[in-house]
Amino acid sequence: MDSAQRLDDIVSTLRGASRRVTVAKQAVAQVLVESPEHLTAEEITRAVQQRRPDVSPSTVYRILEEFESLQIVVHAHVGHGATVYHLAGTVHGHLVCTNCGLTIEIPARHFDLLSGDLMKSYGFALDRHHVAIAGRCAACLTASKT
Ligand SMILES: [Zn+2]
Ligand SMILES: [Zn+2]
Ligand SMILES: [Zn+2]
Repeated sequence: MDSAQRLDDIVSTLRGASRRVTVAKQAVAQVLVESPEHLTAEEITRAVQQRRPDVSPSTVYRILEEFESLQIVVHAHVGHGATVYHLAGTVHGHLVCTNCGLTIEIPARHFDLLSGDLMKSYGFALDRHHVAIAGRCAACLTASKT
């Protein structure tokens, strides 16, 4: 899907939920569509304000909450840093290195086995995306051995 289509999708989700499509919402949507993922709310605010200096941080935060409630975006926690945002539909798992902070995106299928086991044993539905798996990356492991 290209970014124009994604932007159209967001606008039609808003319209479908009878929400107003404001200039600020369009600016947030544009940033989400055109920027790399893993932006914090602060980074999204900065990018929005480059286009629309009149949009306040609290407006951006409210819009992100609204977008989450409409499942346009999801958030994740990677490492000790701030919450980051993803467009829904691009959901994946995260590995984060506790030594250097590297974040690696992994396909959600890596959790299939664990997910099935947890459901069977505990009736618990795993959220593959929300929290990152912590560990050491290959480079840090190699460095610690030399
Ligand atoms: Zn991610
Ligand atoms: Zn959370
Ligand atoms: Zn590392």
